[in-house]
Amino acid sequence: MVDLEKDLAALAETLVKAANNPNINLALSRAVKSYRENVNKALSRFPHTVERAYEVREIKLQALSNLQDLYEKAAKSIEENHGKAYLAKDGSEALKIVSEIVGTGKLIVKVKSMVGEEIGLREHLEERGNTLWETDLGEFIQQLRNDRPMHILSPAIHIPREEVAKLFSAFFEKEIPPEIAAEVAAVREFMREKYFKADIGISGANIVAADTGSIFIIENEGNGRLATGAPPVHIVIVGLEKLVPTLDDAFKTAEVTWRYAQYTVPSYVNIISGPSKTGDIEKVTTYGAHGPKELHVIFLDNGRLSLSQNETFKEALLCLRCGGCLYECPVFSLTAGYYGYKYLGGIGSIWTAFVAGGIEKAAPLAYVCLRCGRCQERCPMKIDVPRMTLALRQLLTGNHPG
Ligand code: SF4
Repeated sequence: MVDLEKDLAALAETLVKAANNPNINLALSRAVKSYRENVNKALSRFPHTVERAYEVREIKLQALSNLQDLYEKAAKSIEENHGKAYLAKDGSEALKIVSEIVGTGKLIVKVKSMVGEEIGLREHLEERGNTLWETDLGEFIQQLRNDRPMHILSPAIHIPREEVAKLFSAFFEKEIPPEIAAEVAAVREFMREKYFKADIGISGANIVAADTGSIFIIENEGNGRLATGAPPVHIVIVGLEKLVPTLDDAFKTAEVTWRYAQYTVPSYVNIISGPSKTGDIEKVTTYGAHGPKELHVIFLDNGRLSLSQNETFKEALLCLRCGGCLYECPVFSLTAGYYGYKYLGGIGSIWTAFVAGGIEKAAPLAYVCLRCGRCQERCPMKIDVPRMTLALRQLLTGNHPG
């Protein structure tokens, strides 16, 4: 039973505390300013992106009406490419599949993944006696702070360089100055050998093309290609909503995603379609050349299939996780990821209700949104969060017409 009044009071207290935190204030004001400058620059240099975003919205809407079918096509393609595909109906089934592949006592390098957050992947693997390092810089900072991501693309967005320097100096047991270049260099040095010693690399995916079974991972740091390329086993965990029918659709979706994530072009777009292989000796195809010998792709349902059939809320599944809406949200810009539960901001409330957490967790969040519509304006998919927020409130109070 939802005690909305109590939950709202608790959330209000958390949000007010966050809004008065000078670190959040400083880091967010820097981040919002630079996001807006960068995204405007990227869109004015490649203006076709705006039109392309409408095209991608149509591609993804079509895909949503066909998710089970697309999964079957993708699974077939992945198996043909000598990978293994799985469909997990919920988080615990996904964790069970991962555990069976990983076992215990392993060294794991992980690429940032919201699906990983959704199902509690790091904690699960650590509890089973594995050592796991988050390789994304922001996620690594949050791992050291024993905290969760505060933005879907920039997990440590609320931590200014001065705080990072204190954290790293304590962890690396040497003085790290509050200079971003020095902080990045310290992590680079620490992480480098981990990639080559690791037994397993784990990543999410931005997009999966069903016709070829190709997995797209967009990144800038280079941790994605090292963590998915160096260890002998690569596990991908990806939400079913990331499926699009063709490789061509996937390229279009990738371009729109990175542009609204503020990049003219990212440093790396990894496209992985199977384990590494060679046919250089007598044209005999042999798997496990320089890269992974095994590729496992776990597709996660966890409410997505049912949401894709829900006319009122299915639009939430169009989200590309570009993060643009969060920078425009007047509540998020004061409180960072304290406005959310795993998935953040207004769009996060809908995801919380139907995918990650449930209606009780979503209840107080549904009343934080101001329904100002700034997120929708920025959103490449034009997701109508204000409309869905109202519908969610109606659902919570038993007044929803559908
Ligand atoms: S709701 Fe829109 S703007 Fe926000 S992360 Fe998703 S695609 Fe990007």
